[in-house]
Amino acid sequence: MAYLTELFSGTKSLFVGLGITIKEFVKPVVTVQYPRETIPMTPRYRGHIELVRDPESGGPKCIVCGMCQKACPSGCITVDGEKREGVKGKVLTLYRLDFTKCSLCGMCVESCKPGAIDFSKDYNLAGPSRAAYVFDLLKRLEEKR
Ligand code: SF4
Ligand code: SF4
Repeated sequence: MAYLTELFSGTKSLFVGLGITIKEFVKPVVTVQYPRETIPMTPRYRGHIELVRDPESGGPKCIVCGMCQKACPSGCITVDGEKREGVKGKVLTLYRLDFTKCSLCGMCVESCKPGAIDFSKDYNLAGPSRAAYVFDLLKRLEEKR
């Protein structure tokens, strides 16, 4: 009798285990095949800053006022521009970000009245040297076209 009870209990636990295995096997997958697949970041995620495109002109929204450069406590930003004939205000010629010094404090984004910079959603940055983290944001915006 003890043998039969043991056999029944063993068989039962085998099927319980199999049931759990099958249930987990058919469950929707919650992981992704990174780096081939990536997930969209949350709206409040702060990656390095990037320039915002002006929907009308297609170029950067930046008016080269230099407020972000002044506001940055870490001195990460270098902005430059030039006057061009027939164009009102300055045209942006350089927007360099030294991301090695950036603390993602957001002072630059807050100081930009035209809303010409915003946080990117880049989270998988990798590079062989510090120089790889000094970004030409104007070039990056042009390459995004
Ligand atoms: S987030 Fe802060 S530290 Fe980074 S560039 Fe902007 S102002 Fe500078
Ligand atoms: S504060 Fe805004 S508009 Fe002014 S230079 Fe910086 S990004 Fe351009």
